[in-house]
Amino acid sequence: MIRITDVSKRYGDMEVLCNIHFQLMKGEFVFLRGRSGSGKSTLLKLLYREVDVSGGVIEFDGVPINTMKKFELRRKIGIIFQSFELIEQKTVIENVMLAGRVLGRPLHEMESEALRLIERVGLTDKINAFPPELSGGQQQRVAIVRALLNKPLLLLADEPTGNLDNETSDEIMVLLDELHKEENIAILIVTHSDRLLSSVAKCWMMEDGRLYEQASF
Ligand code: ADP
Ligand code: MG
Repeated sequence: MIRITDVSKRYGDMEVLCNIHFQLMKGEFVFLRGRSGSGKSTLLKLLYREVDVSGGVIEFDGVPINTMKKFELRRKIGIIFQSFELIEQKTVIENVMLAGRVLGRPLHEMESEALRLIERVGLTDKINAFPPELSGGQQQRVAIVRALLNKPLLLLADEPTGNLDNETSDEIMVLLDELHKEENIAILIVTHSDRLLSSVAKCWMMEDGRLYEQASF
């Protein structure tokens, strides 16, 4: 589904990624690990084109992503972050629906999908709550629902449990694993969590701007 060929990324004179090769298949669950500053977030940003490559090609289903319209690419990709990135002045359901609104989806269709996913992650009673009234784990669940609303093929997760305690972090990892199977979605997750590490098919390690596949555990 995703093929990264000989990709490099420079910020000014600094080479952050160097001749990266990487493939991600439909429905795969892949860990991306590596020290802080090793370029993990940069790789994710290249995938959803928040930044552009300095060299090489990234393809989505055979199409170079720099030839795709950004909204076309982004409806295929959902994203969650360590900091949740919810809008504090909007309720749970409003936050979730924003994801579909930007794509101009019909309201009723979007709403039933939103309600289904909110129920799935156990937040039906929080639908009209505002993010500051929720725990960190609950906020990340809202962000996950928002990311999945448009039925993406790929979910990018950049240290999604970085702000959560260990127990909540484990719960979010398990939820992502379940959703990956139920919603038939590929997940690329940057994480320091060991939860699920033994059960994921692939783990990649970023080191000095290069990417190495690690043997299975
Ligand atoms: P990680 O997510 O693995 O911690 P990042 O991808 O965020 O690493 O950053 C990799 C390197 O690129 C770091 O040295 C960081 O300072 C640098 N960097 C990231 N974004 C920018 C930017 N917009 N401009 C300049 N340097 C950047
Ligand atoms: Mg990062």
